[in-house]
Amino acid sequence: MSQWTTVKRCRACGIGRICPVAREGRRTRYRTMELEIPSQVEIPTCDRCGAEWLDRQTARAIDRAMEPVYRQTLRAVWGEVMRKLTAQTSMRKVEQALGLSEGYLSKVANGRSEPSVELISNLGLIARDVKARLREIDGIWHRVASRTAGSARPAPRRGDGRRRPTAA
Ligand SMILES: [Zn+2]
Repeated sequence: MSQWTTVKRCRACGIGRICPVAREGRRTRYRTMELEIPSQVEIPTCDRCGAEWLDRQTARAIDRAMEPVYRQTLRAVWGEVMRKLTAQTSMRKVEQALGLSEGYLSKVANGRSEPSVELISNLGLIARDVKARLREIDGIWHRVASRTAGSARPAPRRGDGRRRPTAA
């Protein structure tokens, strides 16, 4: 019982045939980043115009291949951010500002815990201007704390009680 393999025509150019292709240089957005798809992953591709046709199976294969690439890239970003941070402040100060338990950052640094994307995003923002960002974060907690403590006070001030100096 033999069967003809169906040749799929490309719907983009109408001429080329679609065959599985594994090659370098293909990129895709995976979660927060655009990353290179590992070269061994086969994607149905038109042999004439190069259009890629993702079926569900291919999409799943790409996802499986991207997960370790993503983790590895997150680790690299983490390392870069932590180098910037620790050059300017202590891990403890950062842990306190973000409400992390003491020693959590070194636990992640030692590979005993995986950093979340949210944590890396926050650390990345802080690393851009460590002193200013830590002061701002501290200000958030401080404002909330003083507002809660002052709930028995009379009416709040009009507006936000602050005014930027107007430009001349
Ligand atoms: Zn085509």
